[in-house]
Amino acid sequence: MGKIDLALYIKNSNKLDDPILNKQLVDLFPFMRPRNAWSGKDLTTDPDFDWTWTLINEIPDGWRKAFGWRMLSELSAVMDGETFTDWEGEELPLSENYYPVQIKEKFGELRWYSNFYIEKIEEVIQKYQDLSRRTCVNCGRPARYISTGWICPWCEYCAVDVKDKMIPIDEWFSEEEEK
Ligand SMILES: [Zn+2]
Repeated sequence: MGKIDLALYIKNSNKLDDPILNKQLVDLFPFMRPRNAWSGKDLTTDPDFDWTWTLINEIPDGWRKAFGWRMLSELSAVMDGETFTDWEGEELPLSENYYPVQIKEKFGELRWYSNFYIEKIEEVIQKYQDLSRRTCVNCGRPARYISTGWICPWCEYCAVDVKDKMIPIDEWFSEEEEK
């Protein structure tokens, strides 16, 4: 599979559960290797690991579909050739040692917590966090509404199925600016 196929897999799949494609994605984006969030342990060393899940699955579906490929590609470019020095003074590739410990939606935006703070990486995350606030969390279309109980962005199609009070997104952001 080429890069285009992997990009389409991230963009179009409802579930990233294909073991072969998931392995190829982790070869391309080693920082998304399946790990235990608390210990950082590489889960793929377990012979029973079935590869139906990687850290990419932690990105909310709509955001993963809308900009997951671009975000991961930019993160990869920032880490390319960079090293970090471990406690024994050994230089190790950054892309294989940096990893997100938690990825989630919070207050209507992408949150990404990682094991290291690296400014160039944070700049990429910040850019996509801003984009996430205006992108449907469910399908990835441009968001038109914000639900106000559970604060989250939705497109006009997905908003219909959410049992929550909706306000138009422009109203939401203009009110926020006034605060
Ligand atoms: Zn939607």
